[in-house]
Amino acid sequence: MKLLLSFSRKGKADPGREPVIARVVKETGVLINVEKANIDSMAGEVLIDVPDRDADLVRRRLEEMGVAVHVMENAITLDEAECVDCGACISVCPQEVFSFDEEWRLRVIAERCVLCGKCIRACPHGALSQQG
Ligand code: SF4
Ligand code: SF4
Repeated sequence: MKLLLSFSRKGKADPGREPVIARVVKETGVLINVEKANIDSMAGEVLIDVPDRDADLVRRRLEEMGVAVHVMENAITLDEAECVDCGACISVCPQEVFSFDEEWRLRVIAERCVLCGKCIRACPHGALSQQG
């Protein structure tokens, strides 16, 4: 399950400076995969992937440390009515989220998405959006 962590660098926890993720791994024994991190001087967002069965435990511990945690159910959403199966999203996605099925219709494996946003900008029909 993917969890999006948001924090202020003036707040209680700052994954840009404090090893909060490493601390949660050490305390819980849960392996956390960091998929993306955007951190500037004021705030930050980190996307992590954790086993589904451990997501509640990791979420609780991070929230206790002052990190806001948002569960990403479907990182990328396809509006099938708008999609024309052009394939532009296939070529830009670094995670191989998109492919064509046997009938050359777009297939989406949303769990692989790391929210880079490239496909949204590449889609000529505005068929892709990110869960907020
Ligand atoms: S947001 Fe990035 S990783 Fe996610 S589906 Fe689009 S291109 Fe792929
Ligand atoms: S770029 Fe947009 S229209 Fe083209 S296949 Fe992808 S989602 Fe469909």
